[in-house]
Amino acid sequence: DEPRPLPCVVLLASPGMGHLIPLAELARRLAVDHGFAATIVTLTNLSDAAADAAVLSSMPASVSTAVLPAVALDDLPPGVGFGTLMFELLRRSLPHLHELMGSVAGPGPAAALVCDFFGTAALPLAADLGVPGYVFFPNSFTLVSVMRRLAELHDGAAPGEYRDLPDTLRLPGCVPLRHAELPDGFRDRTDPVYAYLVEEARRYARADGFLVNSFEELEPAVAEAFDRDAADGAFPPVYPVGPFVRSSSSNKEADELDCLGWLDRQPAGSVVYVSFGSGGALSVGQTAELATGLETSGHRFLWVVRMPSHDGNNNALGADGSDDRSQDDPLAWLPEGFLERTKSRGLAVAGWAPQVRVLAHPATAGFMSHCGWNSTLESLASDVPMITWPLYAEQKMNAAILTELTGVALRPAVSREDGFVANDEVAAAVRELMEGEKGRAVRQQARRLQEVAARARSPEGPSWRALAKVAGKWKAGLRNGD
Ligand code: UDP
Repeated sequence: DEPRPLPCVVLLASPGMGHLIPLAELARRLAVDHGFAATIVTLTNLSDAAADAAVLSSMPASVSTAVLPAVALDDLPPGVGFGTLMFELLRRSLPHLHELMGSVAGPGPAAALVCDFFGTAALPLAADLGVPGYVFFPNSFTLVSVMRRLAELHDGAAPGEYRDLPDTLRLPGCVPLRHAELPDGFRDRTDPVYAYLVEEARRYARADGFLVNSFEELEPAVAEAFDRDAADGAFPPVYPVGPFVRSSSSNKEADELDCLGWLDRQPAGSVVYVSFGSGGALSVGQTAELATGLETSGHRFLWVVRMPSHDGNNNALGADGSDDRSQDDPLAWLPEGFLERTKSRGLAVAGWAPQVRVLAHPATAGFMSHCGWNSTLESLASDVPMITWPLYAEQKMNAAILTELTGVALRPAVSREDGFVANDEVAAAVRELMEGEKGRAVRQQARRLQEVAARARSPEGPSWRALAKVAGKWKAGLRNGD
């Protein structure tokens, strides 16, 4: 007899490494731990094909990939925001996804369709095809909760009639969120992306379930609140399946060796890693201030320096998703003599560092971070406490979770409304993290959470079991459908 073909899960990835990397880890786990085939579907627009291919190159044999063809977006008004572009792109790609779903499951039956944030327009397609539709959330439980409240706020509202979220958002089990801490797009109902967010949030009730890249003990009370609501049928079940952290490939690139070789020469637990993610950009003045602060802190540092922003926009990813400033040398913007004066204890690298390896390195003791969710999980998985430096998207909300709820991060004092941090506050935050009493508390909490995170994802741990439960449902659904 021919072996029965494996049931296939189709995973639709929104553009961007922050989406693709954890979704690919989910596909890997479904294949390796739970006996599925998987097809990861990426898009052509707003994507970097080479970067996508690099992430997808190390997948198990039962994980395949497909790329949907480009769709036209040129009718959108100029200067349309990144969020709007993403929502429109995913929506317009649905006919291509539909076509692919007809063929992709190949010899095996389609067991489920998983979309991620920006992609829930695909849920009705899952329903049409008679397969479970799940949302993979490369973010916190808290953000699911915020989205859910957004839908509730507009429940019964007339089309086009929008309401503002309250000044302080108090959600079950969540850290209270001040207005300024709400993610971009959620703070102002006249922002064009607000309407898209409301529509996205309204589709949540129709999902068969959510898979969240978090773990129970990171946001325990929110997770419990969702459990209660799932038991009452008030909201689809929300499963914590993380933390998914990219497994680093075995071959090291030459530029990675620079950072790692330098770290090898530093004492254990002595280095603060400074990075603002794939899109974070500081102003010219803030870059200089940060440099001075690192210098006067007296501590060792590894700083991933990106091109400063000249227009006050701290997200360097342009509307087309590319970073057009990548040709210039960001190190040229550092203060005169800085590199020379700090060369015995600091390394500044241009643009990119092998972050997962840097955080896992024994020399690394702290992370001054923009609080992107992947960076956050990578830091927690490596027992590295943080200094929060949120810039855009949902980073300010993540910073609130990390400082006020989880206690694994310190917040530097901000000197101006626009978030500017003066050099003495940079130095004070670094010293506090490395030497202070508050620093000791966050270091202890980071140690504890690392153990919890490792347990969560280990076989039979809570996140492993949650995914096993979902996998069991999908398989049972196929049997019932036979
Ligand atoms: N990253 C990296 N090197 C860098 C900057 C970022 O490897 O110099 C990786 C990082 O490890 C993480 C991802 O890029 O996996 C960034 O995702 P995150 O959600 O933290 O932030 P975003 O870049 O989406 O703002």
